[in-house]
Amino acid sequence: MNPNLLTTHWSRLPKETLQALQAEKLRRYLRDVVVPFSAHYRALFQQHGMKPESIRTLEDLEQIPLTTKADLANTPEHPQRAKEFVLIPDEQVLARRPSTVMRALRYGRESVRRGFEREFRPIFMTSTTGRSADPVAFLYSEHDLHNLEIGGARIMEVCAGQRDWRLINMFPYAPHLAFWLAHYASTGFGIFTVGSGGGKVLGTDGNLRLMQKVQPDVLIGMPTFLYHVLQYAVDEGVRCTNLKRLVLGGEKAAEGIRRKLRNLAAKLGSPKVDVLATYGFTESKMAWAECPFPVDDSPSGYHLYPDQGIVEVIDPKTGLPLPEGEPGEIVFTPLDARGSVVLRYRTGDIIEGGLVYDPCPHCGRVLPRLLGKISRSSEFKSMQLDKIKGTLVDFNQLEHVLDDAPNVSSWQLEIRKCNNDPMELDELILHVHKLPEASEDRVIRELNNRCAERIEVRPNRIVFHDAEAMRDLLGVGRLLKEQKVVDHRPKPSSASAPATSTASSPATPEAGIPQPVTTVQPPGLK
Ligand SMILES: [Zn+2]
Repeated sequence: MNPNLLTTHWSRLPKETLQALQAEKLRRYLRDVVVPFSAHYRALFQQHGMKPESIRTLEDLEQIPLTTKADLANTPEHPQRAKEFVLIPDEQVLARRPSTVMRALRYGRESVRRGFEREFRPIFMTSTTGRSADPVAFLYSEHDLHNLEIGGARIMEVCAGQRDWRLINMFPYAPHLAFWLAHYASTGFGIFTVGSGGGKVLGTDGNLRLMQKVQPDVLIGMPTFLYHVLQYAVDEGVRCTNLKRLVLGGEKAAEGIRRKLRNLAAKLGSPKVDVLATYGFTESKMAWAECPFPVDDSPSGYHLYPDQGIVEVIDPKTGLPLPEGEPGEIVFTPLDARGSVVLRYRTGDIIEGGLVYDPCPHCGRVLPRLLGKISRSSEFKSMQLDKIKGTLVDFNQLEHVLDDAPNVSSWQLEIRKCNNDPMELDELILHVHKLPEASEDRVIRELNNRCAERIEVRPNRIVFHDAEAMRDLLGVGRLLKEQKVVDHRPKPSSASAPATSTASSPATPEAGIPQPVTTVQPPGLK
């Protein structure tokens, strides 16, 4: 079988053909690229007595141990851990290969040298948003940037974008995958794009001015940030009638926020907007998108690129691969990456509908798709939200419950201790900006019922704010990601410890600024 089929027919291959071609590509990739040039995998293959040649089918992938976030983190014993995952080519090995010799004879040594440099020399990096204290850097060669353009252009294709549209990239300008993927997707696809840098660079009003000027067809950014910009636009009475796609990334997109975004776009004069989500992570060096679907139907999942990587869904407890369509943890192995390379990377993300291969019901493409909601179990763990008011609370569930609440436009959940006393009971304060048409009484009633029914914990108080105060509270335009949950419980071990930040906020200096818990003095008292 022609191995190039995987690339030329990436969206048209049935499962069996696709998996056979993936196994073949994986074997070559391990043999020619990863095992010879990755310090980590060379040692690992040696240690386990494995050989790339023993990968005959996709099931053989199981022989390679899984890699976790912790494996990538630097430790005092391994201060340069992440570097062990960077491919460093051995010139002598490359020089001896018959293909190198042939190319040198045909095009000259300088051309071959330049080719290897393009393939291997890191010239770009992104890093994890650092839910852990130490963000992990991921390096890209020119070869990787080319793949970033290819993967990005495919997002545009899957979203059914058009080249003559105009796009604003509202992801925060930072060394994170989201902004740069959107950037390279635009150059790869060939669509007019302006990067606003998100709220921190231009502010919400700066983004709005840009929208008025560009009159975009597509907005791409984090769902909560797009929501605040569109809400602001509606409040300011702005018209923005060209909008056709809102492409979401960087955080999960609950059904509730999609509906709210559609409603806001309609108020701006764009009633026919497709709100589509993407999914990706630093370690994948790519992201995948949903294709447009009817408003009354459900999305058909993230459309994967079988030639660029292998996605598995495993049982998070046993680590074993699960059958098609079963919920489990997403694991990723690249098939054409250079720079930083991690095989069988455990994302910590749980996909509810698993991995499916049947033709997409909406666009008809035949490729693997990740179906259903994604819950970031890693976020949940680092939040330590397991016990609020003594009840086990699933943070992912809670976020869906609040995002989907009908009359709530935005929210923040604050956890604190009564009287700021570590020995006291937990207190839950829900800060809310409500839709103007609903009364406060109604919203309180609805929220209390939703919370009691679905997460068995009710907020102690619901506090209403106007849109501006809410944006302020969430850190819109100040933080890279809005703070939807803040934990202001004092640490019992040290009275002076700052209030902890949330998992959904990245470890930037700004995000680390705690919102101080102050005792409010009644006015007039000194
Ligand atoms: Zn589709």
